[in-house]
Amino acid sequence: MSIKDNLEKIKSSLPSHVTLVAVSKTKPLSDIMEAYNAGQRVFGENKIQDMAEKYEALPKDIEWHMIGHVQRNKVKYMAPFVSLIHGVDNFKLLEEIDKQAKKNKRIIDCLLQIKIAEEDSKFGMTLDEALEILKSGIFSQLKNIRVTGVMGMATFIDDDTQITNEFNVLKSAFEELKKIEAPNFQPKTISMGMSGDYPLAIACGSNMVRIGSSIFGERNQH
Ligand SMILES: *Cc1c(COP(=O)(O)O)cnc(C)c1O
Repeated sequence: MSIKDNLEKIKSSLPSHVTLVAVSKTKPLSDIMEAYNAGQRVFGENKIQDMAEKYEALPKDIEWHMIGHVQRNKVKYMAPFVSLIHGVDNFKLLEEIDKQAKKNKRIIDCLLQIKIAEEDSKFGMTLDEALEILKSGIFSQLKNIRVTGVMGMATFIDDDTQITNEFNVLKSAFEELKKIEAPNFQPKTISMGMSGDYPLAIACGSNMVRIGSSIFGERNQH
């Protein structure tokens, strides 16, 4: 099956309230253009440098999402164009994004990454840490960022019960955080679900899925 066929098959299976982020990490420009020509406009990358190179080379109506772990000293390379940063897992990073967004006269949307997996390898903050950030006075003064929701990754395991439990943890974290009021907190997005688990994620309340290999094929490197 072609990229176009894969994309159309997945899109036809998604409810209309679910946004599809096509994860193009490690894939060449030609693959991205094939998806673009099939109508896809939202793409996700996990390395800032790669995303910046692809942004330069490709049509400017693409929305670029940063889905990987973010190093603070690299925020400046994506601040001019990134449309959503999924993996924000600490306050210092939010401050840096705010600073770089301000330099670019932009407001950058961010998701707080919550750790829901049992695996130690996954990044993210606890619900309590997220609550503490959103409730703090210094957060509400960051005028060039907007926190629009949460992101999480389930354990990489072949056990639907465990994956469902982890997704439910993220959904209830979102409901808990939603009670907080701050001008730059506008919760609407729950980013969860990848090629192997997105139907489960949607059943648990996801409204943004990040799908790579089911669209572009398997990757050799990560
Ligand atoms: C690579 C990646 C994905 C996509 O994974 P697939 O299994 O290829 O769909 C989704 N989210 C994050 C954070 C990733 O790094």
